[in-house]
Amino acid sequence: MCYAIPGKITKIDGNIVTLDYFGEERRARNEFYQFALGEYAYAQGGLIVGRIREKEALPALEAWKEVFVKLKEVDRRLAFNPKDLRQTANAERQKHLGNACCVHGIIEFSNYCANNCLYCGIQNSNKKLKRYRMSEEEIVDACDYAVNKLGFKAMVMQSGEDGWYTEEKLINIVSGIRKKCECLLILSIGERSASTYKKFYDLGVRAALLRFETSDEALYTKMRPGHKLQARLNLLRELGRMGYLLMSGFLIGLPGQSEDSIMADIDLTASLGVEMFSFGPFISHPDTPLAKLPSAAMDMALDTIAKARLKYPDAKILATTALESLDKINGLKNALLAGANSLMINVTPPKHQPFYEIYPGHSAKVVDVEKKIEETIALLRSIGRAPADLGI
Ligand code: SAH
Repeated sequence: MCYAIPGKITKIDGNIVTLDYFGEERRARNEFYQFALGEYAYAQGGLIVGRIREKEALPALEAWKEVFVKLKEVDRRLAFNPKDLRQTANAERQKHLGNACCVHGIIEFSNYCANNCLYCGIQNSNKKLKRYRMSEEEIVDACDYAVNKLGFKAMVMQSGEDGWYTEEKLINIVSGIRKKCECLLILSIGERSASTYKKFYDLGVRAALLRFETSDEALYTKMRPGHKLQARLNLLRELGRMGYLLMSGFLIGLPGQSEDSIMADIDLTASLGVEMFSFGPFISHPDTPLAKLPSAAMDMALDTIAKARLKYPDAKILATTALESLDKINGLKNALLAGANSLMINVTPPKHQPFYEIYPGHSAKVVDVEKKIEETIALLRSIGRAPADLGI
């Protein structure tokens, strides 16, 4: 299994290295390694996340070489002669970014949450939900398995806003992961103080996934009682200044959200300087105050991806798992064909998966992780995408 192609280092300019991928040159920032020209490395999010010995890189490249060319042909064919909004967006994606598709792993390590976001199934006041927390050791082991056995090069560690994980506990977890796993480590744990996030940064965490949920201030306050949009945005900006790669975005189709507001959401995401857009459809959960309101329509979700792509042609845009809940068979595929170019695969230990129920159907069909990976790679291949993140 392979989510990244090793690149050969052809130039070193301070902490910027140039990597060659079958004749394509990309740059990446190097903060953690000492390299010599001719060595091989893995990049994620424009950052070098791993070194690979030539002995291992060469067979990996050999295996990639033929597929790489074939996949590009399929991708070009599917993007040819666009006829509508989504096809045009897909053609833009093809033109600007080629066929590379980031595939990140995600581990949902706790479904306890102090908040009561109206839309969210793991909100504190949902007493029907069975709660779980993974121990420090269990979290590190799960990440170790995802990186060193399954081959992921970027890992999201997500939870509700759960104070049980004190700064000290999280530092242990992050240090444990950094010791064992060469990967881009992405935290998605909600709001913590900037000084806490700085400590994680100093330990090597380089990315944060934190959606601002909606750019409409009044709607935000209504949907997230006790919280202020400005505080979340301040934190996001502070993290950006610290050097974090940001993944952020919003919910599509929240009750009371206008179409203009969604366009403003797209612009706000871009203005934060995100590494990756992460937005997805609102899905109504029966055990929340929004139970009786309809989920977002698939068409609206796909059109939003297309509009974001057309406005920001160079963006990385995630096809979120919520799309799979709306359409199990074609949700992700249609999103990738509407301009998205990133995916996440849930690698939470199967016994916990059903309980991270932010929306119904989130993990209704718990499948064997390796099978899920196979299905995802097959989907990507069927539309000519290479599961890789080459660099900038
Ligand atoms: N505590 C973390 C993770 C929250 S859960 C944080 O605050 O960032 C991750 C995301 O799930 C949320 O940001 C929200 O956008 C999404 N989500 C929650 N409920 C949802 C629902 N009913 N439908 C679709 N997405 C939902």
